[in-house]
Amino acid sequence: MTSQIVLLLLGIAAIAGLYFALRTKATPITESNIDNTQADDLVTAILPEGERRVVPESIHNIPRHALDDNAMRVVYRLIDNGYDGYLVGGCVRDLLAGKNPKDFDVATSATPEQAEPLFNRARLIGRRFKIVHVRFGREVIEVTTFRAGHDSASTSKDQSRQAASGMLLRDNVYGTIEEDAKRRDFSINALYYNVEDNSVYDFANGYPDLLEKRIRIIGDAQERYREDPVRMLRAARFAAKLGFDIDPDTAQPIHKLGNLISKVAPARMFDEVLKLLQTGYGEACLRQLLRFDLFKYLLPATDRMLESDEYPVEQLVNNALRNTDRRLAQDKSVNPAFLFAAMLWYPLVDRMRELEGHKDLPPLQRLHEAANQILGEQVRATAIPRRFSTTIREIWEMQHRLLRRDRADQLMEHPRFRAGYDLLVLREESGEDLNGIGDWWTEYQNSQPNARPQIPAEERRKRSRRRRPNRKPKEQS
Ligand code: ATP
Ligand code: MG
Repeated sequence: MTSQIVLLLLGIAAIAGLYFALRTKATPITESNIDNTQADDLVTAILPEGERRVVPESIHNIPRHALDDNAMRVVYRLIDNGYDGYLVGGCVRDLLAGKNPKDFDVATSATPEQAEPLFNRARLIGRRFKIVHVRFGREVIEVTTFRAGHDSASTSKDQSRQAASGMLLRDNVYGTIEEDAKRRDFSINALYYNVEDNSVYDFANGYPDLLEKRIRIIGDAQERYREDPVRMLRAARFAAKLGFDIDPDTAQPIHKLGNLISKVAPARMFDEVLKLLQTGYGEACLRQLLRFDLFKYLLPATDRMLESDEYPVEQLVNNALRNTDRRLAQDKSVNPAFLFAAMLWYPLVDRMRELEGHKDLPPLQRLHEAANQILGEQVRATAIPRRFSTTIREIWEMQHRLLRRDRADQLMEHPRFRAGYDLLVLREESGEDLNGIGDWWTEYQNSQPNARPQIPAEERRKRSRRRRPNRKPKEQS
């Protein structure tokens, strides 16, 4: 009996011991833990503007293997030549947010003229904003000199020019790293990676904003948007890409100042459209653009028709973007011409219908005329380089030609067949009734030549009827 009691007591003691051991393990109070608590405060505290916060590697945890070799080469070359050099901007932001950076940018104390000769394949580019491009095969590292504000009386016209609207026409006033941080757009884009001790420098409370998933413009939002209206599009893009919220003071003026975007050079707008809609987050970007009513500055004719009852415009736009996002996620190529052809398809159809009433043109000529008009309007918003506009026209023409199935083999050889077919399928998926012609083409491509689907009888009949008048004169002669 006593031995049973002793065993019971021993058992209770063992369970109690285990319980306390586990508890202590779960919340060990150690020196390093105390350090981390203090470090947490340090990285989340809001510091006075311009004050430097140094986030050590042990806290930011950016893996070194994620740093781009060529960007590191550029930074070390600058440092070896006595200049400062940092990885900066989107690459630091994306690495901290656990995303793959699209490209790596470098900031330096060297002027463009000083930096350019340090590299074999470097080119000085830009006038409004002079930078150096250093090329490594297909990769380009953008090297920018620390910028400063434009208030100094000593700045010349060559360095700084501002329109009456506040828009910066030239931004080539150089300064210190602290000044440079203030000139950047959002706090999360003003983080500098120091390759010498692998720490991250933050002068604009970007690190706490990143932890809080917040997009906050540096300085006065209205003034910064007036200086460069593209910043409004960038806010929408980063919110979409990172899934962050836009700080109320940063978001609020966008509705009022959105119209300034129409003053941005169309060539720059073309680049921005591709960044918004063709870098893997197109659907999410569209939602942000619509939220701020900014889509109309990108594709005005499409925007006007988004709520159309007659055509499934919004569905096609969404489907085209979803497809593009999916292709990019699978590392497949995407073509800007396809995206524009899809986005502008219903404006084109609508214009063709309008022309029907005015001009007596055969369908293909009507398509060409409508294409001229729609593309003519579009290039006032965003430039479209000729190599793309030619392809856009061909994809549209394909929509017409794909309705004729009697020359299927010939059509399949056409360089735009695939893109044309993809748009046809997308139109059907968006709700357009095309008598199942998309499925017919899918089957046609997937079957052996001897097992291909038949051409519907009425189409064959149509063709023979059309041919008859041509044959008659021959028979007479
Ligand atoms: P991503 O490369 O993913 O598009 P990013 O932020 O790197 O994003 P870039 O256009 O490569 O964008 O610009 C690099 C950096 O230059 C930005 O992070 C930002 O610090 C600064 N920057 C770019 N555009 C502007 C602008 N319009 N106004 C102020 N700063 C800008
Ligand atoms: Mg970048």
